[in-house]
Amino acid sequence: MTHSTTTRVHPSAAALESLLKSKGYVLGWPFTLPDRARQADLDLAAAYDCPACGYVGAMQARPWHRPFTRRYVLALCCLSCGCGVEA
Ligand SMILES: [Zn+2]
Repeated sequence: MTHSTTTRVHPSAAALESLLKSKGYVLGWPFTLPDRARQADLDLAAAYDCPACGYVGAMQARPWHRPFTRRYVLALCCLSCGCGVEA
């Protein structure tokens, strides 16, 4: 998945998460991921500013992973404007 930085249109968090679901992702951390790696990701999300509304610190990270693989993504959901960003 490539995230275009040229577009000004941001999907809603719900749209982003249904897209992830359609690609086979399920909500939650991959159980192989150590706690400190999870915390590092959450810390990163906490410092992220929303690309749609510019609000800093309103991004709530929800981890999604693909079962039986090591692949996972964070869906950053803006609590201010409701947009979703894949990180
Ligand atoms: Zn926002």
